[in-house]
Amino acid sequence: MNHDDLYDVTIIGAGPVGLFTTFYSGMRDLKTKLIDNNTELGGKITMFYPEKTIRDIGGIPGITGANLVKQLIQQAMTFQPTVVTGQLITGLQRLEDGTFLLTSATGETHHTKTIILTVGSGIFKPIKLDLDGADMYEKTNLHYSVDELARFAGKRVVISGGGNSAVDWANELLPIAKSVTVVHRRDDFAGHERHVAEMREKAQLFTPYSMVELHGDGKRISRISIQHLETKECHSLEADEVVVNHGIRGDFGGINGWGLEIEDERFVVNGAMETNIPGIFAAGDATTHPNKLKLIAGGFTEGPIALNSAKRYLDPDAQPMAMYSTHHEKLVETGK
Ligand SMILES: Cc1cc2nc3c(=O)[nH]c(=O)nc-3n(C[C@H](O)[C@H](O)[C@H](O)COP(=O)(O)OP(=O)(O)OC[C@H]3O[C@@H](n4cnc5c(N)ncnc54)[C@H](O)[C@@H]3O)c2cc1C
Repeated sequence: MNHDDLYDVTIIGAGPVGLFTTFYSGMRDLKTKLIDNNTELGGKITMFYPEKTIRDIGGIPGITGANLVKQLIQQAMTFQPTVVTGQLITGLQRLEDGTFLLTSATGETHHTKTIILTVGSGIFKPIKLDLDGADMYEKTNLHYSVDELARFAGKRVVISGGGNSAVDWANELLPIAKSVTVVHRRDDFAGHERHVAEMREKAQLFTPYSMVELHGDGKRISRISIQHLETKECHSLEADEVVVNHGIRGDFGGINGWGLEIEDERFVVNGAMETNIPGIFAAGDATTHPNKLKLIAGGFTEGPIALNSAKRYLDPDAQPMAMYSTHHEKLVETGK
């Protein structure tokens, strides 16, 4: 693909809102590109709850996340948009002719007349351990996820955190590790009762405790100091591998440096889904405006509004909205 081809619209973020907006862009006959950092489409639904049932979309009494994404992808592909995955968009340049050049973290460029940001909460990154030396040990035995089980075989593993993932990782590691110790700031753990009970039975737990110091030779952590949150009593735990699950945080990466107005970590838009930069529109979880409805159904309205605004930005004489889909010539002709 020639990344320098000029597109009418580039939609950044292929969550549910970006996918539906891509379909609607085809309805308006615009040359459309959809880009996502992830290799799989579907945004938060694919990342967090593909197997859960979504029940608050009009006309759909219940559908699993995975099936909704499958149908959204099928619908988004109706007008054969260009889809780019695995690219994090970070840079923006406005060219002399008013078009935009987008840059990805890996150096690819995308040339476009308008942009619609459907970037949700950005890219999710783990919340890092805020202790001296933590960044240094990330290269060796401090982990923010459990990707390779074999690495933990026969080891003394200490897990910090009490979320679903911490519980799941503890249970996955218990059969193969020499020992699993879980340190958590609260007495309660998130996750299925059965999984929590299994972990409580087999792992060594320290609650309410937090890690206060990492000890090692500068290359690997060998020991951790933990402290009781109320009594301030300290313990020392021997550790071969340390796993931290303190949650995740959304990060817009470079986009929040583009000069867009931001409030409460969302892009401010008006009723036409226009941002403060002409030619850049936004929809879905990424936006804030009065009466915001932070639901997939809300994003399904914001996306087409943003797209109609982009269409009228490109052609001020264009109709305010697309033809009804029941009467859309291309859809009716092809029987889609
Ligand atoms: C557990 C859970 C359950 C939920 N249940 C419901 C429910 O029942 N009903 C409901 O209506 N809502 C529900 N929601 C909320 C719903 O998932 C969101 O409102 C919806 O996903 C927002 O869609 P979006 O397309 O705006 O953003 P997202 O789904 O967040 O997608 C944004 C996409 O943008 C991409 N991206 C971000 N930055 C960049 C960049 N710089 N370059 C390239 N790509 C980028 C991301 O990779 C991501 O794929 C739930 C959310 C969670 C977490």
